Amino acid sequence: MLIDSHCHLDFPDFSERLPAVLAAAEAAGVGRMVTISTHVERYERYRAIAEANAAVFCTVGTHPHQAAAEPDVPVERIVALSEHPRCIAIGEAGLDFFYDHSPRDVQERVFRTHIAAARETRLPLVIHARDADQDMIRILREEMSKGAYSAVLHCFSSGPELARVGVELGFYLSFSGILTFRKSEDLREIARNTPRERLLVETDAPFLAPVPHRGRVNEPAYVADTARVLASTIGVTPEEIARITTDNFYRLFAKAALIDRPKQAAVA
Ligand SMILES: [Zn+2]
Ligand SMILES: [Zn+2]
Repeated sequence: MLIDSHCHLDFPDFSERLPAVLAAAEAAGVGRMVTISTHVERYERYRAIAEANAAVFCTVGTHPHQAAAEPDVPVERIVALSEHPRCIAIGEAGLDFFYDHSPRDVQERVFRTHIAAARETRLPLVIHARDADQDMIRILREEMSKGAYSAVLHCFSSGPELARVGVELGFYLSFSGILTFRKSEDLREIARNTPRERLLVETDAPFLAPVPHRGRVNEPAYVADTARVLASTIGVTPEEIARITTDNFYRLFAKAALIDRPKQAAVA
């Protein structure tokens, strides 16, 4: 079984055809997926999708693009919403200095609020980082010194230094369809240098469809294509990469393991 650790099933691209998208995922061996929050104010939607579909978990958080729209959501609110049994992580939150849709200082403040929520709930933080490597490294280190938290650097597309610091801090790196693009040799090099026990895969659907689906609306079924490229990149079989990334998923997203792998969760 493969797991799509990051997708956006609430997007309009899926509204009409969600049952077909979920069926295609199942047929492709993608047994679980996490629909990721971009707006705390829309949390009910994510939760409703997760409640209606056993294969889907959800998260709660504010995307850095929306930081200016949701600048003051208190930690307590995020913590309270995360208590739902199918909400398994905080985020996505972080810094996006490529688009700069929100002022950078507001992005940083909102991001730190999410780190505090992750620390308090012991749920992993889903980090969005784009063109902000040095600020991201500074914040992640400063916050770690205040108290431990776990995280995934999702849709990893940053440089080798952030990858190294992330691994050093105990975080996971999740690879998206970008890994399959011909020009992504630097990214494949980062994947090769990432410890196997820290690798995850995702689609970030509806964005970034992997080869050979480029240009189409991405969907969770296509995580199989990214997983295949990740397998060949690090020199394992597709079966092994499924086992590795799924075990990693349940180690990081322990609340999902509580539901899907109760025996293992009890031992851990
Ligand atoms: Zn993102
Ligand atoms: Zn996303």
